[in-house]
Amino acid sequence: MDMKDREENAAGLLDGDVDRRGFLKCMQWAGAGLVWSFAGGVPTSRLLGAPYKRARAEDFAFVQISDSHIGFDKAANPDVNVTFQAAVDKINSLDRQPDFILHTGDLSHLAKASEFDTLDQLLRGLRQKQTFFVPGEHDLLGDDGKQYFERFGKGSTGRGWRSFDHKGVHLIGLNNSAQLEGLGAIGDEQLAWLKKDVSGLGASTPIVVFAHIPLWAAYPEWGWATKDSAQALDLLKRFGSVTVLNGHIHQTLQKVEGNVTFYSAMSTAFPQPAPGSAPAAGPMKVPAEQLRQVLGIRNVSFVAGQHRLAVIDSPLESA
Ligand SMILES: [Zn+2]
Ligand SMILES: [Zn+2]
Repeated sequence: MDMKDREENAAGLLDGDVDRRGFLKCMQWAGAGLVWSFAGGVPTSRLLGAPYKRARAEDFAFVQISDSHIGFDKAANPDVNVTFQAAVDKINSLDRQPDFILHTGDLSHLAKASEFDTLDQLLRGLRQKQTFFVPGEHDLLGDDGKQYFERFGKGSTGRGWRSFDHKGVHLIGLNNSAQLEGLGAIGDEQLAWLKKDVSGLGASTPIVVFAHIPLWAAYPEWGWATKDSAQALDLLKRFGSVTVLNGHIHQTLQKVEGNVTFYSAMSTAFPQPAPGSAPAAGPMKVPAEQLRQVLGIRNVSFVAGQHRLAVIDSPLESA
């Protein structure tokens, strides 16, 4: 980072109208108060006591949505299109628009063409048009995912896995829904791809993994785990910051293991019971007026130099 960047960076933390001369004056009075930190290998600066006023250029936010189950029409939510539209409205009303959106699977309930059509239509209402998808097991029903891959798998390789870089962060979308036998599975082919995908990255590169089924033992008794997730996590353990986002269990859960933080997201369609709190997993009916309090979206923001991404889950309606 050169001096000019430093000045802009630090000036960005002060009022926007501080010019170069003003900034240099600040430097004098601030003296030793200019703090540089290199958390995660990414340099960042702040003036001691200076409030964080403006987002820097390298900061960004994205939104995760999950389990829209378009086509579902049972008692737990007779109109999933309406609640999905409420999620779209919520995203559109965010002060800071996300740079992109991640959909972590179960787009549809039965992988029907008409369900994918409806989802497509609803997604067009988003201000942010860039959405990346990974499939849930519901998207692969009937035709083994043929339609899903044709329509939502663009830019992915293999069976719907993909990676891309955004402002210094490496994002990896995995398909762990294709070989579902009770638990999710990644499979050897995808693991080999993952190994190659991350091999050239420095350990300080922040990693975000998104997949449908939890990559940790959220509740294996209900299939809420991935049988070969340990092999994937082993490939990521040298990285200082790993964030893993999933859906499938239709509720927020969080777990930290070393440098890895796991977050499962709410659905936009219907909730499921907490692990072990019911005889089985499945759509859970709550009083109609409470439904929107257990459905929601997730806003994730990245600030360079901070080890952990800021994850905020927002229900469609607060209690
Ligand atoms: Zn689901
Ligand atoms: Zn699922």
